[in-house]
Amino acid sequence: MSEKTINKDISCMDDFDPESILPEEALTRIFNAISGLTEKETVPIRNALSRVLASNIKSEINVPSGRNSAMDGYAINAEDLPSEGINTLRLIGSSFAGRPYTGKLKKGECIRIMTGAIMPEGSDTVVIQENVNTIENEISIGIDTRAGDNVRQAGEDLAVGDLVLEKGMRLSPADIGLLASLGIATVDVIRKLKVAFFSTGDELRSVGEELEVGMIYDSNRYTLYGMLSRLGVEIIDMGVVKDDRELMDMAFKEAAGNVDVLITSGGVSVGEADYVKETLVKHGKVDFWKVAMKPGRPLTFGKLDSTYFFGLPGNPVSVMVTFYQFVQPALRKLAGENETRPIMMKVPCISKLKKRPGRVEYQRGVLEQDETGRMIVRKTGAQGSGILRSMADANCFIVLPINNDGVQPDDLVDVQVFHGLI
Ligand code: AMP
Ligand code: MG
Repeated sequence: MSEKTINKDISCMDDFDPESILPEEALTRIFNAISGLTEKETVPIRNALSRVLASNIKSEINVPSGRNSAMDGYAINAEDLPSEGINTLRLIGSSFAGRPYTGKLKKGECIRIMTGAIMPEGSDTVVIQENVNTIENEISIGIDTRAGDNVRQAGEDLAVGDLVLEKGMRLSPADIGLLASLGIATVDVIRKLKVAFFSTGDELRSVGEELEVGMIYDSNRYTLYGMLSRLGVEIIDMGVVKDDRELMDMAFKEAAGNVDVLITSGGVSVGEADYVKETLVKHGKVDFWKVAMKPGRPLTFGKLDSTYFFGLPGNPVSVMVTFYQFVQPALRKLAGENETRPIMMKVPCISKLKKRPGRVEYQRGVLEQDETGRMIVRKTGAQGSGILRSMADANCFIVLPINNDGVQPDDLVDVQVFHGLI
């Protein structure tokens, strides 16, 4: 569908603001504006957890390095497996993990072998100890084992030359373990992003200060701090900036060109004291400033020298929704990570949901199994953009498309699951 037809279709929707763009267009514009950093640093693998890998890792060794036993039992040659009845073999030695048997097996012979121990020459099969009868220096085996059973081949996990980890991936504990299994001590990762943020509003007090009448505690700097910490960026908390043109000017100038990203909250509506957009116009460039979404319609994206700028709305839930939909994907791309899309699924919603056509809505939900074991989603209480509890209780967003006009119990809805970095 072209942009024109979308606008024609949605112009009749009562909640649609013609100056706004669709969330998917906003994300595309953000991705188009951003190219990933390439500056690297070398870190020990333990410090590489959650960092973005800067170059491909290929295996220079086989893991495991040699053929070894997957079980405790007896190493034999498959030719000695009976086709019926039982066969008796002579026990000539043992192989432990780290203490291999150095001789060679001949026909009719076997050795005792432990998990992880190297398979001696002449053997190709392990009979597990539960399937063996031992009488002095002999064992008898039945027909329960097949040729090649219970043996791990050299290079079965990683073979020489295999691409093990790809540039642009965020390293998980399993990845760190893989690196260790290859004997790699340090890796190149993309340098940490520098992200600054401040809150705007004369009504804001910081935690620890006294709350006079009409004032509220600033929670956005705390949710932002948490969401940014999960991404492993370098955080610069610039505090609260009052609704004042000059102070706003100074704060913008302080950040411009000195950090990779500046995030503000509040002051992006069209109220008397909302100076964020005009300050960005003055010092930088606005890409877009309204998105057809709820919560979070006023959302400014642009650039301030070399610094990317996100002006998030003031309401606490709007901050988190716009962060997860736009800022987090943007920071991940900027940090050199390969583009990822959130996990979405369609499930029945057991709550009735109110919605007017004209905006994409991100209601907060709990995805869970009902008493019959089927996956369902329900909403988390009141959905106002100031009710942070709705976010704290949630484990997913219920994403309702622009033209949806409400959900009846058991309607199928799209759910975006919180996972990983959320
Ligand atoms: P604004 O976009 O500045 O008009 O703010 C919208 C709403 O969000 C107002 O009710 C503000 O009081 C509230 N708000 C703005 N910033 C914060 C903050 N940092 N913490 C909590 N609430 C905020
Ligand atoms: Mg304000």
